[in-house]
Formats: sequence, structure tokens, C-alpha cells
Amino acid sequence: MIEKRDFYINGQWVAPATARDHQVIDPSTEEPCAVISLGDKADTDAAVAAAKAALPGWMALDPAERIGYVEKLIEVYKDRAEDLAQAMTSEMGAPIDLARTAQVGAGIGHLKNFVRAAKGFEFDRPLGDHAPNDRIIYEAVGVAGLITPWNWPMNQITLKFGAAAIAGCTMVMKPSEESPLNAIIFAELVDAAGFPAGVFNLVNGDGAGVGTQLSSHPDVDMISFTGSTRAGKLISVAAADTLKKVHLELGGKGANVIFQDADEKAVKRGVLHMMNNSGQSCNAPSRMMVQSSVYDAAVETAAEVAGMVTVGNAHDEGRHIGPVVNATQFDKIQALIQKGIDEGARLVAGGTGRPDGFNRGFFVKPTVFADVTPDMTIANEEIFGPVLSIMKFETEEEVVALANDTPYGLTNYVQTQDGARANRMARLLRSGMVEMNGQPRGAGAPFGGMKMSGNGREGGVFGIEDFLEVKAVSGWTPEAHAAE
Ligand code: NAD
Repeated sequence: MIEKRDFYINGQWVAPATARDHQVIDPSTEEPCAVISLGDKADTDAAVAAAKAALPGWMALDPAERIGYVEKLIEVYKDRAEDLAQAMTSEMGAPIDLARTAQVGAGIGHLKNFVRAAKGFEFDRPLGDHAPNDRIIYEAVGVAGLITPWNWPMNQITLKFGAAAIAGCTMVMKPSEESPLNAIIFAELVDAAGFPAGVFNLVNGDGAGVGTQLSSHPDVDMISFTGSTRAGKLISVAAADTLKKVHLELGGKGANVIFQDADEKAVKRGVLHMMNNSGQSCNAPSRMMVQSSVYDAAVETAAEVAGMVTVGNAHDEGRHIGPVVNATQFDKIQALIQKGIDEGARLVAGGTGRPDGFNRGFFVKPTVFADVTPDMTIANEEIFGPVLSIMKFETEEEVVALANDTPYGLTNYVQTQDGARANRMARLLRSGMVEMNGQPRGAGAPFGGMKMSGNGREGGVFGIEDFLEVKAVSGWTPEAHAAE
């Protein structure tokens, strides 16, 4: 059994102030795979104090030097890629092939995008020719608390770390207590890359403990959070007293609009996207909306494709999906599938209970419901499991209203070969991202949402800007600056 009780504070691995063991459960086996500690206020305070002490030196560095540290991190990251993949497979159940490719790969991709974006970013610039004595200085927000989830752990950690580090923020990270092992390896990598002590600190803990302590801490200037809308609200409340900046990346209930002229792979692509990572993605296309003339064929295809998605132990190589993260999520998903049946949706693939051949592990059947209507629970709640809801529409106007009829606004998807219609849809859908015809967003494109999906943007230059304050200076002496 892996034992990783220490926290990374001020460049050292230190024992928790009070012993509070927490078992990490492997969702493929339901057996413990590691033990960590949950921190308490003394640990949080020590980490925040270290970050606060390191802040003046770190933010005073030339941005090029901070970029250099991130470049060193990219070099060492590759050395531990397999360790990171194995950790995520054990703790959150990402199938090992997905962990080695998308889960680990996302991390390095984000770090590289930040380096590229930062090299073209003017941290210090004139306001414009009309105001020669005005200067705009972008400077670090300060000490940042980073609270991350378990579903795409290395993706989230690097999206926050890379942007904060380059912006000049120092950090205290609290990863999800469900997936602390990859975060501990990440802290070892930060150490190996030679970041100055105190720039990055890691304290494990739960939301009620370390999460709340960071959110309400007077010496934390900003919280960057990814996770549930429920926790996002609690964090906002806890942060209100200190009026810190709160950056939120929350849940979603994405529409995938399939017009009758969609390309022939659109339905298959939508189903596989939904099932990827066992449906545990905030940007999952969980509401498939199909135009009536192609509806029956789409339902048939979707059921067939879902029926071919295999489920397997996350440690086994292959293209199967793995379990969902824990017993709570398993129970929640089972209850929502049952609710779909009870409320009259037509089950065309999967259903309740474990897939054949499993009597333990948090495995869920790839499930598809057809004839889902807007009033049904499964059309509204984020399920966060491999469950797709298919809905029917007639007109473009109707589907815009249907897609936007959700408190969330993270990612919507459009499938049509009519370019003018696609562009129109992109403007009308109320979400931070619209992906069309299976084309992924480009490197460094901003990730984030509207409405109850949050307010922050992560990735590339947009991510860096979220960790920066904009300072407006008048009476600036350009000649003196040129001589510096
Ligand atoms: P969660 O939001 O409770 O946990 C995510 C992170 O927030 C963890 O690090 C957790 O410790 C922390 N946290 C929880 N409560 C907190 C609080 N009051 N203050 C500060 N930090 C707090 O998510 P979960 O319980 O693990 O998953 C439940 C649901 O959340 C899922 O079903 C899904 O809908 C959603 N979710 C969304 C995302 C996303 O990427 N948008 C990620 C994970 C979970």
C-alpha cells in the first residue's frame, strides 16, 4: 500500500500537524490503494505563509525567468509520465491507455501552450499613442489557492499551475481527496524543476476542511476552482468576507445539436464522446438533440454504438471505458438512470446495475435514453456518468431554445454541413464554448463557461490573464523606462 502522508510546504515534504489518515480507493477493485493525510488549519496556515513569503521574490522576477522554470517542468514531466498515468488509473479509474494518452498528455499540452502564450504577452505596455505617460502593468493577483477535481486531474492541475506560475502568483494547491496521488507526483516534479521554495505548496484535504480554509483565508488573494456547482457556490460564500477573486470552472449539460444534414459520423462521434472517461467530463455532450427527419435512425445508431462500448478494469490495456470514481457517484448515476426509466424516457441501451461479468467495482453500463423531454430529471441534471439523453426537435429556432434551456453554459456542439447555419448557431448558443462538426478547439483556446458553469477562462493567454491584475499608471516616464 502506498503511504503518502506528507505535504509539500516551502520546498520540503513535511508531516501533517495532526494525523488524519484517509484511504484512497481504487474504483476498479473497491480496495484501498493508498493512504494520505487530510490536512487541518495549521497545515493550511503554514502553506499559505510559505506562499505569502515567496510572493515578492517570485512576482519580481522577469516573466522570462518564470517561463524558464515552466520549461524545466515540461522537461522533467516526461520522466514521470508513466507514474502519473498509473496513479490516475488506480485512484480515479481512468483506463490505463486513456491515462497515458489524454490524461497525461493534457498536462504537458497545457504547459507548452502557456509558455507559447506568455512569450507573446506584454506584461508591461503603453496604453496607446494618445497617452504617452500612461502605462499598463499586468501583475500577479498574489497568493492563489488552487482547488482541483478528480475527473481530469492532471489537466486541471496544469491549467491552474502553469497560468499562475507564469503570471507570478505563488500557490497552495488542494487536489481532490479522491485523486491525490498524481498531485503528489506533480509536486515532486515541481521540486525537481527547481522552483524556489514556497512558490508552490500542496496540502491534501477535503472540501469542508482545507478547501474552506483556503477559500476564507485572509492571506489568499484568489481561489481558482474546478468541480461541482455545489462546491463553487460554497467557495463563493466562504470567500465573500475577504472579497478575494474567485475563478470558477463548474458543471455542464452540453447540447449536441444534430441537424438532418449532419455528416454520417456525427451520431457515433457524439456517443463515443459522451462515454469517454466514463462520462466524467464537465463538457460532455450529454443532451443529443436530433432533427425529426433523422431521429429514428440516430436513435438506432446511438444504441448500437453504446452497445459496442466495452467496460473493463482500468488497469487493463485496451479501448474500454473504466469505472466511475467512487460509490457516491455510482449510486447517484444508478438513481438517475432509474429516474429516467420512471419518468418515461425510452431506454435503448444499458440501464441500471453493473455490466455483465462484474460483481464489484464502480462500473456503469453505457446507457442511452431516447424520447427524453425537457421536464425530465435526466434532461436537466449533470449525471457525470456514461449516460446519454436523446431529444427530438423540428426547427432551428426550437433547438436553440431547447439547448439554452439549462442553468449551465459550458460547451455546446453543432453538427451540420451548412456553414451559415453553423455560424448562426455558434452565436445563438449561450455557452463559453461551441464545438462544431467534431473539430476540437485549437491549442491555447480558452476553456470556461457562462451561467452556472462558472466565470473563469483557462488555457493559453486567457488563462494567464485570469491570474493577473491590471494596473493603470499615469505620469509614467518613458525615457527612464527605456534606460532601465
Ligand atoms: P466536488 O465539487 O465536491 O469536488 C471537487 C473539489 O472541490 C475537490 O477538491 C473537493 O475537495 C473540493 N471541495 C468540495 N467542497 C468544497 C468546499 N465546500 N470548499 C472548498 N472545496 C471544496 O465534486 P465531487 O463531489 O467530487 O463530484 C460531484 C459532482 O461534481 C459530480 O457529479 C459532477 O457533477 C461535478 N464535478 C464537476 C467537475 C467539473 O470538471 N466541472 C469535476 C468534478 C465533479
